[in-house]
Amino acid sequence: MLNRLEDSHGRKINYLRISVTDRCNQRCKYCMPESGIGKLNHMEILRNEEIISFVKVAAEQGIDKIRITGGEPLVKKGILDLISGIKKIDGIKEIGLTTNGQLLKEFAFDLKSAGINRINVSLDSLNPEKYRYMTRGGVLAKVLNGITKATEAGLTPIKVNTVLIGGFNDNEINDFMTFAKKNNIIWRLIELMPIGEVSNWSNMNYIDGATLLNNHPELTNITKSSLEKDKTFYNKNLDISIKLINSLTGKFCESCNRIRLTSDGKLKPCLHSNIEYDIKPFLNDLDKMTEFYKEIIIKKPKEHKLDSDDFTPINRNMNKIGG
Ligand code: SAM
Ligand code: SF4
Repeated sequence: MLNRLEDSHGRKINYLRISVTDRCNQRCKYCMPESGIGKLNHMEILRNEEIISFVKVAAEQGIDKIRITGGEPLVKKGILDLISGIKKIDGIKEIGLTTNGQLLKEFAFDLKSAGINRINVSLDSLNPEKYRYMTRGGVLAKVLNGITKATEAGLTPIKVNTVLIGGFNDNEINDFMTFAKKNNIIWRLIELMPIGEVSNWSNMNYIDGATLLNNHPELTNITKSSLEKDKTFYNKNLDISIKLINSLTGKFCESCNRIRLTSDGKLKPCLHSNIEYDIKPFLNDLDKMTEFYKEIIIKKPKEHKLDSDDFTPINRNMNKIGG
């Protein structure tokens, strides 16, 4: 009988995001240092079998939805075996993957066969030069070809996630909406969050997505409830809906159902907190791991402090968390 583990605030925790590597084939300016990252000691990185053992424990405690992220998950050795291993675990109903799309063309069909249900592609500009600038070397055409291939592979509906960066892509809203309509994708605009080194960026880079979208006359906010994490806007000219995730100006802690595992084996109950727990000492004793997991869930913080005056940004860059 599957447990539906709740934290001490009555939230059922059923969603696990796994950062399978902190390495990446891009260096997005808001996510990673230009010099890249020091190679983590081999011993520190969870092996695929260890990740699978942990997911078994978590699934017994109510995790049924998984997102594979990174760094870039498609540079992780054995990524397809890892996905198919997770897919076989009792209780796992859905596996999504978030990718920068650089290798998606090569992987699309294999990801589908391995068991990926949903795919999110990160794309912050539709201008090849701007894309290359923000990713420090990424090739826009590869992402677009990857999206086409993923559509052919049936990894649909594809979501494209765009981090909203003031002074960089806030003038591309119309282009992205046209792109979404043409390619039949779900487009989501996500507010930039002060995490790791990007927390030093200027205030002008951090903008309020709802104010921006409300200034587009063709858009109507059709979000049903203020508690919804995604705000929905309808474009009457194109007859499509787009999503806004106001991760900076909104607060969804009350309905947070997620927990994160990093590639070096740390469980993070809250994205915006430095609190993390090392699972590695328990990998050889899954009964102890189960007890440890339950304790961590109970201790999940009630809410983040992003909106408070004494908020201190967390140390890890996003490539070491996964988004
Ligand atoms: N490499 C993959 C990719 O780019 O899709 C997966 C890992 S990446 C860390 C996951 C997501 O986090 C990406 O959509 C990225 O744009 C987003 N991200 C990174 N840093 C962010 C920040 N400071 N605020 C908001 N989103 C961020
Ligand atoms: Fe790599 Fe994704 Fe971070 Fe960009 S956002 S540096 S693609 S991990």
